[in-house]
Amino acid sequence: MFLFAAQLTIHRMSREIVSGIRHFFFPETCSSCDKELPQGVSFICPICWDELNFTHFEKFETSTSAEQIFWGRIGISHVFSIIYYESGKSIQNILHQIKYQNAKELAVYMGELVGKRLAENNDFQSIDALIPIPLHDKKEFIRGYNQSLLIANGLKNQTNKPVIEILRRKKHHESQTKKSREERWQNVKDIFSIARKDDKIPKHIAIVDDVLTTGSTIESAAMAILKNYPETKISVITIALAKS
Ligand SMILES: [Zn+2]
Repeated sequence: MFLFAAQLTIHRMSREIVSGIRHFFFPETCSSCDKELPQGVSFICPICWDELNFTHFEKFETSTSAEQIFWGRIGISHVFSIIYYESGKSIQNILHQIKYQNAKELAVYMGELVGKRLAENNDFQSIDALIPIPLHDKKEFIRGYNQSLLIANGLKNQTNKPVIEILRRKKHHESQTKKSREERWQNVKDIFSIARKDDKIPKHIAIVDDVLTTGSTIESAAMAILKNYPETKISVITIALAKS
């Protein structure tokens, strides 16, 4: 017994030494500020972590500002956006890395973080499957990945909810950033269709995306789903919520 405990201690110590040496020669850096991460910390340094302004929507008993975005537009059950988007803060860098800088592991990590925060919420628990917002094939080929799928995979790692890639993006649309809400809607209203129409989908699904802004893209995706599956209950999960 003593020998076993000693072996285990030596094993742990040697693992820590190897990790310390690796950290010394190949320090990981913060995904937001690029400064060296303390040993044992992944992706986001404590300073950038402190800048994250969590919404705490998962604890709300009344409707949230994220849910109100869809009022009068389309029936969305619950909207879980975890962090307020604030420009100049670490959330802006994190989303930029995920979207444009090939930060695939960070996207999965953020999905896991979202899953951890939602785990206790009853409405989240009733979601049967996750549906990521797809990119257009050409855009995904150029980027090499779809960030919404990676976020959904992170959520799946954490919660065991299946990911269903049922949506297809029909056309490549222009950037939304400089457009008004109406212009955004005209830009995205028919861009989604259902990839495999024969598939059954579960009763309650969540559309997954990186950030919720005007809700136009998600509304369009939800419309495509409801057109084919009118009985489906739809919720939304995003990492961030931007105030439009
Ligand atoms: Zn940092």
